[in-house]
Amino acid sequence: MMNDMTMPAKAERIRALFHGFLSGSEIGSYVDGALVSGSGDEQKLTDPATGEIFATFKDAGTDVVDAAMQAAARAQREWITMTASARGRVMNEIARKIRERAGEIAELESRSAGRPIRDIRGEAVRVAEMFEYYAGWCDKLHGEVIPVPTSHLNYTRNEPVGIVAQITPWNAPLFTGGWQIAPAICAGNGVVIKPSELTPLSTLVLGALCEAGGAPRGLVNVIAGKGVTAGQAMVAHPKTALVVFVGSALAGSAIAAAAAKNVVPCILELGGKSGNIVFADADIDRAIVGAQSAIFSGAGQSCVAGSRLLVHRSVHQQFVDRYVQAAERIPVGDPFADTTQIGPINNARQWAKIEEMVRQGVAEGASLATGGAKPAALQSSGGFYFAPTILDNVKPDMTIAREEVFGPVVGVSVFDDEEEAIALANDNPYGLAGAVWTGDVGRAHRVASKVRAGTFWINGYKTISVMSPFGGFGRSGYGRSSGRDALMAYTQTKSVWVETAENPAVVFGYSPEA
Ligand code: NAD
Repeated sequence: MMNDMTMPAKAERIRALFHGFLSGSEIGSYVDGALVSGSGDEQKLTDPATGEIFATFKDAGTDVVDAAMQAAARAQREWITMTASARGRVMNEIARKIRERAGEIAELESRSAGRPIRDIRGEAVRVAEMFEYYAGWCDKLHGEVIPVPTSHLNYTRNEPVGIVAQITPWNAPLFTGGWQIAPAICAGNGVVIKPSELTPLSTLVLGALCEAGGAPRGLVNVIAGKGVTAGQAMVAHPKTALVVFVGSALAGSAIAAAAAKNVVPCILELGGKSGNIVFADADIDRAIVGAQSAIFSGAGQSCVAGSRLLVHRSVHQQFVDRYVQAAERIPVGDPFADTTQIGPINNARQWAKIEEMVRQGVAEGASLATGGAKPAALQSSGGFYFAPTILDNVKPDMTIAREEVFGPVVGVSVFDDEEEAIALANDNPYGLAGAVWTGDVGRAHRVASKVRAGTFWINGYKTISVMSPFGGFGRSGYGRSSGRDALMAYTQTKSVWVETAENPAVVFGYSPEA
């Protein structure tokens, strides 16, 4: 499929969309209510659908990060002097602003980050829903009274941590930005967020929309810069009270170590290698659709991707035959075309990594059932397209079964019974997600309880909601960043003791019950 615009026209359209939200001549960081240019190296923004550069910006230096931290600290003080109900009204207004311009936001994300427009239209609305959900929490977040065995009134307060440094990856910048900003400000915090240097535009827009909705200027600051420069400066900054990192396990572990130097806690949302289990008693038609969505939606650039398909031996051959046929029919192409279901890989480096991992999988003994390269129809495009890829006969010790690909590549393995299916699903250091397809309700719950994963689906895949907690087990990270659990993670609990006795006993430490 051809692109709908030449690059100069597309670059112009992206700039017009971006500056329709943020005035300023240059792309930069959004700090204290304005776009500011950085002092670091020039960064290039590349269109994944064509491979062409459409814009550049200067990496935020440490000065810009420091200015963002100071702005967030000042704005956060103002934010917590507002009543909880007033903060809720602001969050609802932010959601309204997002809904109002959801079409433009979706177009910006699709054109700049290469994500299929048919997926992104709904995603902009999901982001508005995140602010609406947490708007409702603002005046319901409160502590409790504890019936201590002394003459005291003892109560708890859920206080904001202060300034939160958030760092996000390139695969779903708009969604991930909303997912992290909404609970953070609901709990009363100030935010400095850094999207990937490859995809900063939609998060910058979100920052501007927070202020347009009535958040104090500087409450949400967005840094345009690289991890090793701006990201590290954010983690090390003395004002940072909590680090929230979404990205690879490698970077996450380095970030947690750096944060620990200042005794700063982290929430880590890392990668996955999720097992999608199909039993012979499953509705096979539905399981085939589910297994496609699990790995091919978002071109597999999804942390919860069902990249390990575990199929019962008795249905393995028919399942793979039909799975291959279905994969070969999925429309791959221009992300801005309404028919496209799989867009490009975000960047050339990731494309090369995917190809290399497929090659290694075959070298280690897996059979390539379909895909493994750029689709034939897109050979002349400069875009980073990769065909839906199925590797069969994958053994648990192969690299393709152990390491995250982060692309449209699934490895298929067989099992003979329930115990083996669970053992295979758990035979991996990651623990982000998983699924089971079966007609046996007892088995479904048995498997759900035994697979080590933060999210698990029964006869479905990929559904998540801001209302429900999300996070990893094992190498997939720790902490939760949605639902009520995120609010707890974005607050710290204070215990307050009030003496109520007329003549309190003078004791040292614990007072026995009268
Ligand atoms: P990445 O780890 O390379 O980068 C993620 C972010 O961290 C970027 O903003 C980057 O600039 C920054 N960064 C990198 N090194 C840093 C450092 N030393 N200090 C501070 N910041 C640093 O990941 P990526 O390639 O952008 O994204 C792909 C990865 O993200 C995959 O592993 C995927 O599974 C994971 N991911 C996880 C989730 C989740 O919720 N669990 C969601 C989406 C993506």
